[in-house]
Amino acid sequence: MSEQLQRLAKLPLRENLKGISPYGAPQIDVPILLNVNENTHGVPAEVVESITEAVAKAAASLNRYPDREFTELRAALADYLGHGLAPENIWAANGSNEVLQQILQAFGGPGRTALGFPPTYSMYPLLASGTDTEYVKGERDADFELSAESAARQVRELAPNIVFLCSPNNPTGTRLGLDVVEAVYDAGEASRTIVIVDEAYHEFAHDGTPSALSLLPGRERLIVSRTMSKAFALAGARLGYLAAAPEVADALRLVRLPYHLSAVTQATALAALANRELLMADVEDIKVQRDRIVDELRSMGLTPAASDSNYVFFGGLEDPAAIWKGLLEEGILIRDVGIPGHLRVTAGTETETTAFLVRLRELLGQA
Ligand SMILES: *Cc1c(COP(=O)(O)O)cnc(C)c1O
Repeated sequence: MSEQLQRLAKLPLRENLKGISPYGAPQIDVPILLNVNENTHGVPAEVVESITEAVAKAAASLNRYPDREFTELRAALADYLGHGLAPENIWAANGSNEVLQQILQAFGGPGRTALGFPPTYSMYPLLASGTDTEYVKGERDADFELSAESAARQVRELAPNIVFLCSPNNPTGTRLGLDVVEAVYDAGEASRTIVIVDEAYHEFAHDGTPSALSLLPGRERLIVSRTMSKAFALAGARLGYLAAAPEVADALRLVRLPYHLSAVTQATALAALANRELLMADVEDIKVQRDRIVDELRSMGLTPAASDSNYVFFGGLEDPAAIWKGLLEEGILIRDVGIPGHLRVTAGTETETTAFLVRLRELLGQA
């Protein structure tokens, strides 16, 4: 037992939290951080200026609680998403992790189950334990794919209260067709299953990739989750949101803490949304680097997955741990997601991406 677990054992911890580890992507201070899929392009100076101005204005009334309904922000998010969505379709919290937690608080809990399809976002099982929801691991097809037929069959068999679909999926970077979402939704009819489509990386998808937002009309159990942490380069601000039927937001009002979105957070998010064109230009550049990584890894004889996100999951490595370590020695941090023969790298700036590719070739003996 680790020292930490031994120490914890002295406390009357809830049974379902015993023996689990907290979320722990390493935070190592090196020059090139390509490990947690942050936006590597930084916050543009103009956006920094807008945010600073907005926050200064908000600071003057920090003696008051913020707008509990974050009305202006919901309107701005609805406008950004389009698809005919109105402010009452939108809900937000401190990162999409908090949005997902609130969904589990409202629709999961003791005696209820949430189904995910690993390898997928490592926070789903942790959010489930935190809310005492049983996490059920579904199965994927070959090459980590998930077909509509297989996903729907598993939902029918397991009748979960909640299903997590992640598209593009973390860590594989691959997207799900809308046919999978539709099939899962229909399969969950009898069990009244809440279907969450986590589109944290949607803005990085290749042009013309449809969003599950287009499926919302008439589907009150469907929730599309988004975040400003990735495309909007705002991971540090903590703003995640969802689009769904208005009654979903009503359900989450029952579990959210009062005034959960600070006035500073609301002001920051609004300023970033007002500058979205500038921020989306960086997204285009990141997509170029992402496609470049896929091409180059292929030319090295590796097997990168087709990525619609800002990172690339690749296999064909004999000793991923050694590659990970060799990159770190050059100040480049990528992610070992614990899948044999594979690693995951976030698309960097052009310079960062070049440094990664050059070092990788050396480590593979191809320089
Ligand atoms: C990064 C990420 C999120 C975003 O989390 P935030 O709490 O909004 O920062 C959500 N889902 C997936 C799959 C992610 O990779």
